[in-house]
Amino acid sequence: TAEAYNRIEALDGDVKAFLALNKEQAMKQAEEMDQVPVSERGPLFGLPIGVKDNIVTEGLETTSGSKILQGFNPIYDATVVRKLREAGLITIGKLNMDEFAMGSSTENSAYKITRNPWDLDRVPGGSSGGSAASVAAGEVPFSLGSDTGGSIRQPASFCGVVGMKPTYGRVSRFGLVAFASSLDQIGPITRNVRDNALLLEAISGVDEHDTTSANVDVPSFVESLTGDIKGLRIGVPKEYLGDGVGAAAKQSVLDALKVLESLGATWEEVSLPHSKYGLATYYLLSSSEASSNLARFDGIRYGFRAENVESLMDLYKETRAQGFGDEVKRRIMLGTFALSAGSYDAYYKKAQQVRTLIKQDFDQVFEKYDVIIGPTTPTPAFKVGEKNEDPLTMYANDILTIPVNLAGVPGISIPCGFSEGMPLGLQIIGKHFDEATIYRVAHAFE
Ligand code: GLN
Repeated sequence: TAEAYNRIEALDGDVKAFLALNKEQAMKQAEEMDQVPVSERGPLFGLPIGVKDNIVTEGLETTSGSKILQGFNPIYDATVVRKLREAGLITIGKLNMDEFAMGSSTENSAYKITRNPWDLDRVPGGSSGGSAASVAAGEVPFSLGSDTGGSIRQPASFCGVVGMKPTYGRVSRFGLVAFASSLDQIGPITRNVRDNALLLEAISGVDEHDTTSANVDVPSFVESLTGDIKGLRIGVPKEYLGDGVGAAAKQSVLDALKVLESLGATWEEVSLPHSKYGLATYYLLSSSEASSNLARFDGIRYGFRAENVESLMDLYKETRAQGFGDEVKRRIMLGTFALSAGSYDAYYKKAQQVRTLIKQDFDQVFEKYDVIIGPTTPTPAFKVGEKNEDPLTMYANDILTIPVNLAGVPGISIPCGFSEGMPLGLQIIGKHFDEATIYRVAHAFE
């Protein structure tokens, strides 16, 4: 824990991954834990971890990257934070993110722009940019992120680390500041696959505080790291190697498939025909859910409150006008529009129907194949400022990750080569609740 704080002190002035540190409390916890007999210590015991700032931590400021939550000190821990403690991990600070997890570069944070440790002129990806950058910089060995449309996998890919978006329902969302409740999942970001498997095991499981958490067994993911992938059947969607995906990203996937073939797996081209509607479907549904979820930030209950107002209505309006950033306002407006009486059938309902088609695409491929493999992102990390002026180019970055959230299936990004001196990611997608097979394949590269 002390070493993590030293490293943060040395590097975070440049990387800017952390929003808050709780050094005093963490050092005290570490000291107390020294008393625990070695025989009672699990594999993660005593290790420091960083937590994305949309996951609530008792007594430690939680802003979700937004000005509207400035000064909000939660009175309870998220279920995952409690589970981290039970596994012996020490939460040492909160990690920067795009405001309310809306973005792909961490440039939408109200506080600071996190930099990619491989090249400080580039973005770390987003929205869990702080989570990925802190692990890549070696400030912490592990972090937690959240993924609604790619926010764990895309930054993991940009920063050359391992990031898992678990099956929807695998990990409790209790204490996760909601963006789009039907898509959000918390997951681990680590330097290798084994750590990732250990950490997911620690945070998984049904939770009485989250009715969407699933009552399914949590297997020992580490036990699946056998190195044996003989007979594994891989589907490679032609849409994931089509136009719009960079040559380097395509080549790195083809190279990875050769490695898997040499280990006894086979692969074939498959199709996810509705994935071309993924982006449109995602932005309608996620913005609709966000417009509802973000209604609670009214200046009364949490964090920031506008001053010099004349009436209650004025207080709401001014707090939200001053407290939310541009991207968040854009989504609230889009979502409110899509849910309004005149537009509901044409947009929201239609998007829900297309979501079902996208899910069925995955179901069909998984009838014949064990995993689906493709790139995580079309290109490596872009430059700070390069895409921030144009929301549509920014959104297009997530075309390969979004369908996975819409279908609710798990997906991981692992490092897979370089382009322009920057890391590229390989995405491995599995069946519902079959993270074990994903880890088995991912580990085969290590
Ligand atoms: N970049 C996508 C968005 O802006 C995904 C974000 C996420 O997964 N939280 O919505």
